Amino acid sequence: MSRTPFVAGNWKMHKTIEEAEEFITGLLPLAGAVDDVQIAVCVPFTAIQAVVDSTRGSSIEVFAQNVHEADQGAYTGEVSVAMLDELEVHGIVVGHSERRQYFNETDAALRVKVAKILAAGLEPILCVGESDAQREANETEDVLRVQVTEGLADVADEDLAKVTIAYEPIWAIGTGKVASPQQAQDACAFIRSLVADRSADAAESIRVQYGGSVKPENAKELLGLPDVDGALVGGAALDPASFAGIIEGARA
Ligand code: PEP
Repeated sequence: MSRTPFVAGNWKMHKTIEEAEEFITGLLPLAGAVDDVQIAVCVPFTAIQAVVDSTRGSSIEVFAQNVHEADQGAYTGEVSVAMLDELEVHGIVVGHSERRQYFNETDAALRVKVAKILAAGLEPILCVGESDAQREANETEDVLRVQVTEGLADVADEDLAKVTIAYEPIWAIGTGKVASPQQAQDACAFIRSLVADRSADAAESIRVQYGGSVKPENAKELLGLPDVDGALVGGAALDPASFAGIIEGARA
């Protein structure tokens, strides 16, 4: 089955509203009418409204970078799915390794987040991936099994394909050290096999992105791998021409 490639740029804690709008002004002529690749920018909370407005009518979708699992309450500094839905985001990235590492995001919280995002009619991108030490210790598959199984635990089989899973080996994020095509393919195929343990149909349809030092120069090779259905991009997604180069690499 053919899966629509999905390229998402994760801005992390970059771009004021003015810088975000400048980026979108640069990206729209390059990729605003692409219809064979799903394209998203994952935007800091403060710029979401502006970017939703400036991408309206184009093929560029807006994702948030985090959400709290509770519906509301005494969680200073956090936002809920309903608050983001109100801003008309298309989806939300959860489980990024930086959030797992610096903000103690757990698999237990992620399973609630993923299910709530879907219940609101939004698309989750669930990030998973092993550390350098875990890969060295041959624990990659064990780590992925726990993260994928737990993260999807509260998702009904018929909704599994609405989730995108981003395989992001931590040692490749922001390091310039990209996974080899074999490493990326093996891990993404393994993730798909974990989904197949739940539903063969969902495994055929679910998108698995690769993330970790993707650039225009290596995008075509990585995104051409049989089980890699797109990319989650950090540094190279901060510049419109560079991001558009990666989108181009995802096109057939
Ligand atoms: C990321 O932050 O998700 C990421 C993949 O970053 P980079 O592309 O910079 O490695």
